[in-house]
Amino acid sequence: MIDTMEKSQRLMELEENYGAHNYHPIPVVLEKGEGVFVWDVEGKRYFDFLSAYSAVNQGHCHPRIIKALTTQAQKLTLTSRAFYSSLLGEYEKYITEYFGYDKVLPMNTGVEGDETALKLARRWAYDVKGVPENKAKLVFAKGNFMGRTLAVISASTDPSSYKGFGPFMPGYELVDYNNLDALEQSIKDPNTAAFVVEPIQGEAGVIVPDEGYLKGVRDLCTKYNVLFIADEIQTGLARTGKMLACDHAGVKPDILILGKALSGGVLPVSAVLANNEIMLTIKAGEHGSTYGGNPLACAVAMEALKVLKDEKLAENAEKMGIIFREEMNKLKAESDVITTVRGKGLLNAIVIKEKEGKTAWEVCVKLAEHGLLAKPTHGDIIRFAPPLVITKEQLMECVAIIRKVILSF
Ligand code: PLP
Repeated sequence: MIDTMEKSQRLMELEENYGAHNYHPIPVVLEKGEGVFVWDVEGKRYFDFLSAYSAVNQGHCHPRIIKALTTQAQKLTLTSRAFYSSLLGEYEKYITEYFGYDKVLPMNTGVEGDETALKLARRWAYDVKGVPENKAKLVFAKGNFMGRTLAVISASTDPSSYKGFGPFMPGYELVDYNNLDALEQSIKDPNTAAFVVEPIQGEAGVIVPDEGYLKGVRDLCTKYNVLFIADEIQTGLARTGKMLACDHAGVKPDILILGKALSGGVLPVSAVLANNEIMLTIKAGEHGSTYGGNPLACAVAMEALKVLKDEKLAENAEKMGIIFREEMNKLKAESDVITTVRGKGLLNAIVIKEKEGKTAWEVCVKLAEHGLLAKPTHGDIIRFAPPLVITKEQLMECVAIIRKVILSF
């Protein structure tokens, strides 16, 4: 036992000594994953309730996705876009038909998808809407999270994202999330290119807007000829109980950004989808990425998307989510440690009241000791987002773990 504990300790020290200190992980060293489970280097098994920030919706090392990966890896991995490849067109047809858009622009990480959408919106504003050169305005909802590049942290209201990294991108305006009046005031400016919003704010702590908000956003954007850009990198791909979180409101964004679970947690794969009027404003040589749309990513993403439908993962997320929130609400009634339960599908959060100096961090460390991994956000919020393949039996086992830990505080 001492030997194996030493193994974890040694591996954590390696990261501490040789890696940048830009993360603060829960002290667990993982080496294997399968479905809803991950194992640490001591062989201890955990339920994964973070799913790599919703990248592993299909479950760890899904056999079909891994097969697609390994088969393609033995054939061709990267061509760059200097040449055509045998899989890119097939993937582009598949994903555009899947989501109902004319075109896709493939990228790698989520933040690159966001950057691509912002560039597209500016270009559309100049070429199609007729905004004077360099006057295009991009509007964002406060509390957003789009990753870590300078373009997106320029829109952040979280000091841990932006502080110390200025000067920031000009041409941005921020409005309150879930506030249609504020949005209308901002976007009626004729120089507005786009409004960028997460249908549910994930990193902010699973903030679900009022019923009618997304429909209102769609209507206002249409009224003022402003692009509605939905960042569904975290909320998309069955996580919230529908294929897209926008589907709950029956609205279609002008630009849809996907990432994370688009590869089932296997590779960085992101995608920006839009119709021709928007997508064809960017011409050859004006945007791209060496790895964007590589054959390996195309094979993996197609299989990851097929798995979502074949295994009815949106339906399972919807059903399991209802049970999970019911159980968390029961627990909230029994314990004053939980002040709020919220979420949709299997993207849920509880808010923890600090008690005798014990915070959400201590709750998560204790959950890990009991075999369930979750991570706090913003100090007092714990997000619960297991892989969508979770069964009712497994979910109830997890509820029992959370119950035991919460009631011990
Ligand atoms: N957009 C949203 C809504 C996200 O939640 C994230 C990551 O958490 C990103 C963008 C950035 O994605 P990536 O970390 O792959 O760059």
